[in-house]
Amino acid sequence: MLKTIFKYDNKIGLFLVVFLVALFAGCQTEDAKDQLLLEDGSIKPRVITTVSPITSIVDAIGGERITLKGIVPEGVNSHTFDPAPSTAIAFSNADIIFLNGLYLEEPALDMALKNKREESKIVLLGNRTLDKSKWVYDFSFPEEQGVPNPHLWTDPMLALEYALIVSAELSALDPSGETYYQSNYKTFEARILNLDSEIKIAVLSIPKSNRKLLTYHDSFPYFAKRYGLTVIAAVQPSDFTEPSAREVAQLIDQVRLEKVPAIFGSNVFPSPVMSQIAHETQISFIDNLRDDDLPGSHGDIGHSYLGLMVENVRTIVVALGGDAEGLQYVDTSPIFQGESQVIYP
Ligand SMILES: [Zn+2]
Repeated sequence: MLKTIFKYDNKIGLFLVVFLVALFAGCQTEDAKDQLLLEDGSIKPRVITTVSPITSIVDAIGGERITLKGIVPEGVNSHTFDPAPSTAIAFSNADIIFLNGLYLEEPALDMALKNKREESKIVLLGNRTLDKSKWVYDFSFPEEQGVPNPHLWTDPMLALEYALIVSAELSALDPSGETYYQSNYKTFEARILNLDSEIKIAVLSIPKSNRKLLTYHDSFPYFAKRYGLTVIAAVQPSDFTEPSAREVAQLIDQVRLEKVPAIFGSNVFPSPVMSQIAHETQISFIDNLRDDDLPGSHGDIGHSYLGLMVENVRTIVVALGGDAEGLQYVDTSPIFQGESQVIYP
């Protein structure tokens, strides 16, 4: 249409273009402004996170008072994730950056250190939560490599520690929001305590001899420790390749010896090795555990840290012969009223 107007009269066409651009730019600016500013007109804390379980926890506490962007896309290997060069801009604009730490996001940490403003803070939640003496080294994270298992969030009580640190850090950054952050933390805490007790009940319903986990991705040691399960093996090697034929044969022997009813694959790390082990041992292969990733997509019910835990535990408990009925009563709905401004890449 504009092309036709230009043909008809260049001046009218130009005026229309300028007018329309100004109109739309104006609308976008007003909307964007509302989302970026607090009630007193100050800029909302600009927060960057990495993996989606952490993004969800920070979202639960920060709620409407922060703008939040996760940088690790869902469905990618967070352990080898290398942020795009454009992510440097996000780091340079951030007021605070929450990472898991424990060597999970080294390229992102490096980029954050190089690009953040001097006054902006980097918080390594895992390092702050767990004393070095309690770090777990295991199958995919052997001690000789010096990198501990970083998946603290699979233990809800450690995730609650993350939330407490987030609440304190956001309050320090934005003191007028302290009551708001603390209130969200209290709601989150109540949900976590309920989740924790329902997980305990569900795991206790698994026959004792079945309380064993063999997973592909090695993300459940902190979970297993809290709830009395034994991780008998994790299949994924420490360099994130596939295990050798000899290692697969050993795993098959181990599954036969331990008599586990099921083994668990990961949604993010599909592997044909798991089907092979299950086929040769004639046991169930459950291929949809979520490890470093939330179930569904942004906006779906259960696309949250709480949803992640409920779905994983239900999957594990049912496959190992237990009763996961109580987990349906865990509230996975949003922690705060209003609209979240989180961006999941
Ligand atoms: Zn992981």
